[in-house]
Amino acid sequence: MRPDILNPLFAEVTALKGIGPALAKPLDRLGLARVVDVAFHLPTGWVDRLPRDELDMADSGRIIVITLTAVSYRSSNGRGPTRVQATDAKGNYVSLVYFGGHPGWAKKLAPLGEPRRVSGKLEHYGQDLQMVHPDYVLPLDEAGDMAGREAIYPLSEGISSRRMSQLAAQSVERAPDLAEWIEPGLLAKNEWPAWREALARIHADPADAKAHERLAYDELFANQLALMLVRQSSRARKGRALAGDRRLRDALKLPYDLTGAQARTIREIEGDLAQAQPMLRLLQGDVGSGKTLVAALAMLVAVEGGAQAALLAPTEILARQHYESLRRLLGGLPIEIAVLTGRDKGRVREGVLMGLAAGQIHILIGTHAIFQETVAYKDLGLVVVDEQHRFGVAQRMLLQAKGRSPHLLAMTATPIPRTLTLANYGEMDVSQLDEMPPGRQPIETRVISEDRLPEVVEALARHLAEGGQAYWVCPLVEESEKSDMAAAEARAEMLRGRFGDAVGLVHGRMKPADKDATMQAFSEARHGVLVATTVIEVGVDVPNATLIVIEHADRFGLAQLHQLRGRVGRGGGKSNCLLIRGGSLSETSRARLALMRETTDGFRIAEEDLRLRGAGELLGTRQSGEAGFRLATPEMLGALLPVATDDARLLIDRDGGLDGTRGQAARTALYLFERDAGVALLRSG
Ligand code: ADP
Ligand code: MG
Repeated sequence: MRPDILNPLFAEVTALKGIGPALAKPLDRLGLARVVDVAFHLPTGWVDRLPRDELDMADSGRIIVITLTAVSYRSSNGRGPTRVQATDAKGNYVSLVYFGGHPGWAKKLAPLGEPRRVSGKLEHYGQDLQMVHPDYVLPLDEAGDMAGREAIYPLSEGISSRRMSQLAAQSVERAPDLAEWIEPGLLAKNEWPAWREALARIHADPADAKAHERLAYDELFANQLALMLVRQSSRARKGRALAGDRRLRDALKLPYDLTGAQARTIREIEGDLAQAQPMLRLLQGDVGSGKTLVAALAMLVAVEGGAQAALLAPTEILARQHYESLRRLLGGLPIEIAVLTGRDKGRVREGVLMGLAAGQIHILIGTHAIFQETVAYKDLGLVVVDEQHRFGVAQRMLLQAKGRSPHLLAMTATPIPRTLTLANYGEMDVSQLDEMPPGRQPIETRVISEDRLPEVVEALARHLAEGGQAYWVCPLVEESEKSDMAAAEARAEMLRGRFGDAVGLVHGRMKPADKDATMQAFSEARHGVLVATTVIEVGVDVPNATLIVIEHADRFGLAQLHQLRGRVGRGGGKSNCLLIRGGSLSETSRARLALMRETTDGFRIAEEDLRLRGAGELLGTRQSGEAGFRLATPEMLGALLPVATDDARLLIDRDGGLDGTRGQAARTALYLFERDAGVALLRSG
């Protein structure tokens, strides 16, 4: 249970004064549902208001604060702006310009002959000075309300930075003083303020590096501590050793030799499985590196050892695909393989459940449905989670907390930089499949400007005429899934004009059954082109599809582009990727697309992506499974993460874990940063 002291922070955002329906919407769009969300919604920049005694042309373009007195008004009867002529103490003139407002309003704001403290951006207009819509026009006795430095917040339509700043101030007021969780020596060395002070300071002065560092550190510390607690509790659990007698693995006839990386990884996994301590291993391997085979062999070890194995896929499509390929691969062996997804109902489902409980089914493949309460295993020994990035730390913790502590193998094709691996999977051991099976032809990638779309359509026509298949990925529209869909539908319509029924369409808003049907049709080559939004991103395997067109490639994250591109190049033939780019590109966008053209090495792409633009996409909410950091920026990770990791370890190894004084404080931090699944786990363990 969350400590009561945090309750004021976890109240709904409407608990703050002055939040009516008009503000509720923009706050909701920003994902600020609770007071704590507002508190952690940090400013990204600031403006400095330069105090001035005198108007000066040289300040043009700057934001100044100055005392002015209105001397006359000019408004062009109803249309055009209202201009308030005002002077400084020396008699220099400036016009305060208001568009669209009622003239009476400006007169009330700055009555003739009365001095006002005015702040805004000074500009010149011909030979004259002006200020368009000054930010502040205050009576002198209220001028204290104007901060010299003002925070700029990430905003959404309907809320201003000033409003956000007021809400932040309220949330800071509600924030409690919290006992210190940082190791005293570390705190002193870094000269960090206490937590609440840091929070107050960052909202008052976004340039306050110490305050920001401290808050970022706290977030990382909570994250690392949670991961370590998971690891510790998992280590403390008694699982079961699964040695295996090789009878199934020896009977398996593979059409090819294992790559060196596969052989090494399997040895690592076998070593883990042979221990009673449950395995916690992450298998990183680029798209096409052959993770499925590794998973299959691991599951065979479990079955040889007398246990059952389950493979969890992120989507229905992938679950069925895994089922098919594992049945093909393991077909000759005396074992029973079954599939279970949310769509299986009635007798089919009953049959699977009975087979599982009786131990007749040795390997189960499916979606989340396979961990529902009603699904009882006779003896689950190994869980494999595919496409790990779809599952967050919290879900992994829950999985670990379940049942008899099976061994866990998580697999991901999303290459992430080292620092992020530590933050996302710090509780796990890591194996890497850093070698591709032989015989792969590299994918040739080209970047093409969008005004050459007709040529792309011609290229597609030739490709289809030769019996090839293709993906056509539609632009990612930020606003909503709905607009993604509209773009995809429009493109499908256009292509149907040329290619007729050869064109299939999938998008996130389709019913799962319809989506599957279309995917199925594509994989059976009943469609030549599959127009899609990013729903095809993960794992879909159609070897005959050797062309992928990605529209507005500049709007995708590099990691995502890499994933998408990985849909082709899966068969023997040569594959092509056409990245269509918008008309005007920033330097960074250019560099990013050039990198895609240059390399297919996912890890290199990930490192460069992090460097090129900060880890926005990697760390952001789009990939919901990743550790989402709100306070720590990507640039801070490199320096702070190792320190946070060490400090978390120190707390556990030397300072008595969560039970000591510092531990009690750290427990609060876990709740504050919503990494409390770690605490729950300790209790259940
Ligand atoms: P991913 O890592 O993306 O899940 P898969 O497991 O789907 O990759 O493997 C991609 C393809 O490579 C499959 O068609 C698989 O049969 C093939 N493959 C896997 N291992 C080898 C190997 N050692 N030699 C040749 N082909 C392999
Ligand atoms: Mg795979």
